[in-house]
Amino acid sequence: MVEEMHEGTFGTHANGNAIAKKIMRAGYSWLTMKTDCCNHVKKCHKCQIYADNINAPPNPLNVLTSPWPFSMWGMDVIRPIELKASNGHRFILVTIDYITKWVEANSYASVTQKEVLRFIKRDLIPSLRVLAEASLDESEWVQARHDQLNMIDGRRLTTICHRQLCQKRIMKAYVKKVRPCQFREGDLILKKILPIQKDNRGKWTPNYEGAYVVKKAFSGGALIQIDTDREDLHLTINSDAVKKYYA
Ligand SMILES: [Zn+2]
Repeated sequence: MVEEMHEGTFGTHANGNAIAKKIMRAGYSWLTMKTDCCNHVKKCHKCQIYADNINAPPNPLNVLTSPWPFSMWGMDVIRPIELKASNGHRFILVTIDYITKWVEANSYASVTQKEVLRFIKRDLIPSLRVLAEASLDESEWVQARHDQLNMIDGRRLTTICHRQLCQKRIMKAYVKKVRPCQFREGDLILKKILPIQKDNRGKWTPNYEGAYVVKKAFSGGALIQIDTDREDLHLTINSDAVKKYYA
C-alpha cells in the first residue's frame, strides 16, 4: 500500500510524512506506519536520482602552501577525449606550478607510469632549465630582479605567513558548510550528472545516475567506483560528486 501511495497510479512521490497522513485518511493505521513510509521513500530509486543536487562538501578543505616558485607542481590528466587526435592521442597530461601558474602539457595515446616519468624528464625539467637560463642570461633587468628576489628572504617569509593566515580564514568559512560523509568499500553510490552533459530530456533530466559500487575509498575523499553493469569499468571520482544510494 505504501508503494501504491508513493509511486502508484496517483502517486506523486510525496515524502514519508505526507504518505503516512494519506494512508491514515484512507482509513488504515498501524504502529510503525510513519517509519515504514519514511524508509520506503528513502529507498525509492526515482526520488533518489531526481533529488536536488547536494552542494555541501563532504570533506574539509585541505590547503597547501607553496613556499617558492617551481617548488610544487599540480599534475592532472585530462580524461579520454572522444574522437581521438589524428596521431591516436587521447589523453592530455598537464602540470601547473602552484605560484607562477606556469603550465606544461603534452598529449599521449595512453597514460602509464612510464609516460608520466618520460613527461617529467623530457618536458618538465628541460623547460624549467630553459626558463631559468634564458631569463638569467638574456637581460640585465631579469638578473637584477633575480638578485633582489634572492635577497628578500624576510619578505618571502612574511608573504608565506600572510598567505597561510588567509588560507586559514578560507578553511574556517569552508568547514562551516561541510556535512561529513564517509564512504566505505562496498557502499552503493549515485554519481552527480554534470550539467555540461547534453540530454534531450531538458529539465526532466535526473540529477544523479547510478548506482555504482565503491571499490576503494581513499582518505582525502577520492573514491574508485565500479559500474554494476560493467565490472571492468573502474573510475576515480571525488566524493563531492557522489551521494549514498539506498536500496
Ligand atoms: Zn519516489
